[in-house]
Amino acid sequence: MDIKTVGVVGAGQMGNGIAHIFALAGYDVLLNDISEEALTKAVALIDRNIERQVSRGKTTAEDKAAAMARIRTTTRLADLGPSDLIIEAATERETVKQAIFEDLLPHIGPHTILTSNTSSISITRLASRTDRPERFMGFHFMNPVPVMQLVELIRGIATDEPTYKTLLGVVEKLGKTAASAEDFPAFIVNRILMPMINEAVYTLYEGVGSVKSIDESLKLGANHPMGPLELADFIGLDTCLAIMNVLHDGLADTKYRPCPLLTKYVEAGWLGRKTNRGFYDYRGDVPVPTR
Ligand code: NAD
Repeated sequence: MDIKTVGVVGAGQMGNGIAHIFALAGYDVLLNDISEEALTKAVALIDRNIERQVSRGKTTAEDKAAAMARIRTTTRLADLGPSDLIIEAATERETVKQAIFEDLLPHIGPHTILTSNTSSISITRLASRTDRPERFMGFHFMNPVPVMQLVELIRGIATDEPTYKTLLGVVEKLGKTAASAEDFPAFIVNRILMPMINEAVYTLYEGVGSVKSIDESLKLGANHPMGPLELADFIGLDTCLAIMNVLHDGLADTKYRPCPLLTKYVEAGWLGRKTNRGFYDYRGDVPVPTR
């Protein structure tokens, strides 16, 4: 199926990156958020990020102008009606995602493919609440979207082959690499990554190490480009907690229990970089560990 117009729901960290790469690849993008402020911020950020790519010679000023002209923003889900493909990238909460798909259905054509960028929620369950489980897939981009090469493609139990093939073609056009994952809690990347981050928080909680020593240990001792706590702040601690809860509930194994310290940070509203405070405090010139 030929995809020309792509609707993106949610203009946060992931939504703005997704809109960015699709517009640069030549797709028309309809970017939606409930917050007008999030949309304004997202467009300014996309402009800055593509400008950086221009200055590094990765794209041209003409391609940037064309990409920016392909992005339209709206706070009304109904405006996403003309989309051939919709990528839901709103907050990691199942009720929020379900309500979005429910609200979209009366406005979209029968051919429209629905996808979710969820990090962990069951694709089969989200799909079952729509009128098109066969044209529904998990389309999981990594953060930051313009930089990270991988896209996980997750088929729900009912997803048909033409839908899968169409998304494989889209990933190719974006110049990224697809990995196929079965629809089990948190798929591949987060099934492995999140328990490691959660264990790093337990290591902090139990006083085995400080924020600095834990991050340095994994960077210098395991050759990770970022420490696990720095990475958790980058992902968003609310998203990390939501994924651990999905693993814990979905696999019913206590090894996935979220660390109470992670819960405490989220309850404090210390969600990481996006709120300027998490395991590090980002309000000054350099990040300062909070423990
Ligand atoms: P975020 O908090 O940065 O952004 C979420 C956006 O969704 C906000 O702008 C919010 O206003 C908007 N939103 C909330 N309810 C909405 C609704 N009903 N309609 C439209 N917009 C709505 O979150 P994020 O990090 O961009 O994560 C979004 C999704 O991407 C989540 O499902 C998350 O699991 C997934 N994801 C996140 C990462 C990551 O590293 N942060 C990586 C891969 C996938």
